[in-house]
Amino acid sequence: MRSTRAVIYLDNLRNNIQSIRRAVKPGTRMCVTVKANAYGHGAVTVAKTVLACGVEYLAVATVDEGRELRDGGITAPVLLFSLCTPEEAADVVACGLTPFVTDEAYCALFEQAAAAAGVTCTVHLAVDTGMGRIGCMPDQAADVAAYIQKCSHLKLGGMCTHFAFADNVQQEGRQYTERQIAAFTHAVESVRNAGIDPGIRHCSSSAALLEYPDMQLDMVRPGIIVYGYYPDEVDAAYLAAAGRPLDIRPVMAFETRVVAVRHFEPGASVSYGRTWTADMPTDIAVLPAGYADGLLRRCSPGLQVAVNGSAYPVRGRICMDQCMVDIGNGNSRVKRWDKAVIFGPRESGALQTADDIARSTGTISYEILTGISRRVPRVYVGELPV
Ligand SMILES: *Cc1c(COP(=O)(O)O)cnc(C)c1O
Repeated sequence: MRSTRAVIYLDNLRNNIQSIRRAVKPGTRMCVTVKANAYGHGAVTVAKTVLACGVEYLAVATVDEGRELRDGGITAPVLLFSLCTPEEAADVVACGLTPFVTDEAYCALFEQAAAAAGVTCTVHLAVDTGMGRIGCMPDQAADVAAYIQKCSHLKLGGMCTHFAFADNVQQEGRQYTERQIAAFTHAVESVRNAGIDPGIRHCSSSAALLEYPDMQLDMVRPGIIVYGYYPDEVDAAYLAAAGRPLDIRPVMAFETRVVAVRHFEPGASVSYGRTWTADMPTDIAVLPAGYADGLLRRCSPGLQVAVNGSAYPVRGRICMDQCMVDIGNGNSRVKRWDKAVIFGPRESGALQTADDIARSTGTISYEILTGISRRVPRVYVGELPV
């Protein structure tokens, strides 16, 4: 196996699930978001681990992601967050996924597929209360629910919405979220008034479940906090100050190893475009990790990599498959084959997290984690789920 790898600390994952469970009201179900290969952590192993911790539901974004869970032997309910194509509807039914539905024509795809298969397809009605993405408008909810009711192979299993600004704890974020909450409450009531059971009501991703505990309703849908990162402004300091600290730990470490140590004299340049030139005698450690692994090209200059407890700066441009790190001159603490850690929890030897890298490159931890590419093997530490 290659040395560049994503090491997944399953005990940190278990710790995070337990911490989130403590922040969730008793009786509220947990739906763990394992879309995008469980935010890069490996969908099947993450799913099995969290289900063994008592999580009730899983969620994916694509039909293929859902099929991967089923092929992995997972039988728990799986929500399908994004809309699929007509051609995929039969697979949704065959895999027993629970799609978010938005309108009558889209519902009809699953009614047909379920009728053809002779089964019932459970759907959740998504209401767009201000995200501007998918869902019916709040005042259409009762009509779509009535349509679902008329379809003999569909069952309305739940109603949901998604907040656009719940990770903003300023007044503007709060006001906008309150408006979304009111619109969702109204939509649910209109369905009830039509004599239809709305099923499981859910609207809270990581930020909202922490910030709006009253809106945990029947189920919450955490994603990023499961993997040990905070959503934007709802961070560790904010939660601690609010008297609601959350003990979550990064689950993934992104590691590689030094494959060569080179010595250069002043005037020598490193990497494409010659953006860095040695101005003194310099030892350079070569790492076999690059932007095709998810180490963003724009991390250079500025990125630091930890080797044996010290941080060293990347020099020159990050290449597709490799990057180069300045270890000083005559540094005996960095040797060929030593482990180099780009980000991760403390115990991995990392000196920074995916959040630190995200902040310095103008993005969010989600993008750093999901950007770790397929060719990077996932290696699990801690007890594997059965
Ligand atoms: C991705 C997603 C989530 C999880 O979001 P986090 O911010 O990672 O907690 C929840 N609900 C929906 C609809 C999503 O698309």
